[in-house]
Amino acid sequence: MKETLGFQAEVKQLLRLMIHSLYSNREIFLRELISNASDACDRLRFEAIKSPALLEAGEELSIGVDYDKNAKTITVSDNGIGMTRDEVVLHLGTIARSGTREFFEKLTGDQQKDAQLIGQFGVGFYSAFIVADRVTVISRRAGLPAAEAVRWESDGAGEFTVELSERSRRGTDVILHLKPDDEELLSSWKLRSILVKYSDHIATPIRMPKEQWDQDKNEYRRTGELETINQASALWARPKADITDQQYRDFYQHLSHDFGEALAWTHNRVEGRNEYIQLLYVPAKAPFDLWDRRHQHGLKLYVRRVFIMDDAEQLLPAYLRFVRGVVDSNDLPLNISRELLQESRDVKAIREGCTKRVLGLLEDLAENRKEDYPKFWTEFGQVLKEGVGDDPVNRERIARLLRFRTSTSDAAPAASLADYVGRMAAGQKSIFYLTAESVEAARGSPHLEIFRKKAVEVLLLTDRVDEWMVGFLTEFDGKPLESVAKGNLDLGALADAEEKQEQQKVAEEFKDLLDRVKQALGDRVSEVRLSTRLTDSAACVVVDKDQLSAHLQRLLKAAGQSVPAAPPILELNGAHPLVQRLRTHNEHLSDWAHLLLEQAVLADGGQLDDPAAYVKRVNGLLLGS
Ligand code: ADP
Repeated sequence: MKETLGFQAEVKQLLRLMIHSLYSNREIFLRELISNASDACDRLRFEAIKSPALLEAGEELSIGVDYDKNAKTITVSDNGIGMTRDEVVLHLGTIARSGTREFFEKLTGDQQKDAQLIGQFGVGFYSAFIVADRVTVISRRAGLPAAEAVRWESDGAGEFTVELSERSRRGTDVILHLKPDDEELLSSWKLRSILVKYSDHIATPIRMPKEQWDQDKNEYRRTGELETINQASALWARPKADITDQQYRDFYQHLSHDFGEALAWTHNRVEGRNEYIQLLYVPAKAPFDLWDRRHQHGLKLYVRRVFIMDDAEQLLPAYLRFVRGVVDSNDLPLNISRELLQESRDVKAIREGCTKRVLGLLEDLAENRKEDYPKFWTEFGQVLKEGVGDDPVNRERIARLLRFRTSTSDAAPAASLADYVGRMAAGQKSIFYLTAESVEAARGSPHLEIFRKKAVEVLLLTDRVDEWMVGFLTEFDGKPLESVAKGNLDLGALADAEEKQEQQKVAEEFKDLLDRVKQALGDRVSEVRLSTRLTDSAACVVVDKDQLSAHLQRLLKAAGQSVPAAPPILELNGAHPLVQRLRTHNEHLSDWAHLLLEQAVLADGGQLDDPAAYVKRVNGLLLGS
């Protein structure tokens, strides 16, 4: 019985957008279908480990590509795992990936931008509709009888049909009924050139009918034999010297289902106690769901060329989740499961090996491809920062890869810690940093005033992960990292003797005022003292060295966590006219004290507990009442 079903709304949207925005790239449909066919063969090979009866003795898994000039069709066939009726309905009617809805919300309607985004998303099977106005799929799942095959068909508009069918052998045919404009694809030469371009590295052989030039008839004729188009050996297993850059790039696109480019890769055969091959890529662009918690990441795992699983996350730590690639082990058992992966010591060794390789690759990028490293950093820097906390063993190496904005440099986060240390002022002992919500807030912060005056550089940390990261990054190159908004700022040798004397004298003069301000503010502050940080502002708030910074307190509050409310320390600038006037004028002291505190909180990016009271106070003082 033939049933008609509707595509999931997202599929309809994808189809509509894709057909227009990817038309100029239309050849990729073949790569996508070959990729699926090759995955289907990989899956069959894997399932046959447990159920050897699925593969007949000597049977070879392969992909066939054929065309029919009269019928105007192209057919891609495989003898892989096949699909049941339910699988066909699910896989060719919906998009099962997490974050799909969010992805579609990001689309803009601008064709060029959307083409780029759709490329990142990956179009897979649906790309068939770029060149076809009707697609028929006939599939028979491994292990099911010939009469339980399924036939799926659609014109890509909104619905598809499914019905019971027959297929003499296990596997899948995808038949594309070409649009009139795409009939130029109906040529052996054309199809071959696309296959060689995009799919040469596929490990499964791709076969096409052999054709020969017939002098008499002045046309190509089929010889009745089949011909293998690709090299059909796993790319990663070939010697490095035999692989061109272009082949590496193409393999990346096959592996990641990413239209974008690979930025860098590393390919190694590891020998010794654990033997494995690793081919690891850093993409040029982040996938759309890099920050989605449900996002599957990890490497493709093979054991002795047999595909075992996608997204084996045990093979790399989470902070390298942007890396794509293949690990092919010689030692792991073929029947290894995700659970076993977690416990395996061999896997742990592979993970350590892969981590070191990726860090090495990034170091090389930073060192030798200086124009490309910022691209990496923009896309993945925030993820890499997680490694500072998560991977104590490699902390030092990761720290060297970090890049920062600083108070004395321009917009881009370009300074490494080593650059910073190299530029440290004479007598400077610490690496100073400031955390803030945004770059603007950081640059405007009163905490930077004294550093500007002394021409001392300060790292500006404005990513969410930064507060957490500096909790682990306590020193670099023997220099402690120190927040400019915490504790008693000790500029050490940066402050000259004269200044220190002056400070002491001023401290005496202001002692009385500080006491009175503290009294007026009561529990709102833990201490009131004179500041060594300020040159322009009248006041600022700081926290003690061992306390959560105000910025972190706000982040935690926003995340719904309860934060121990520690009152801040209020620092006053003794050189500021307002503060000086307070020393001699007692009038409205309490209002002024509160106002200074509230201004300091605002300048620090904080919020007032009682904004209405603040407004009233300001107005009262403006009116002089
Ligand atoms: P992706 O390959 O990224 O998962 P596709 O849209 O290309 O997305 O395919 C969806 C699913 O359909 C695949 O994951 C697979 O389960 C199934 N599929 C597609 N083509 C084949 C095929 N030739 N043989 C078996 N299953 C297939």
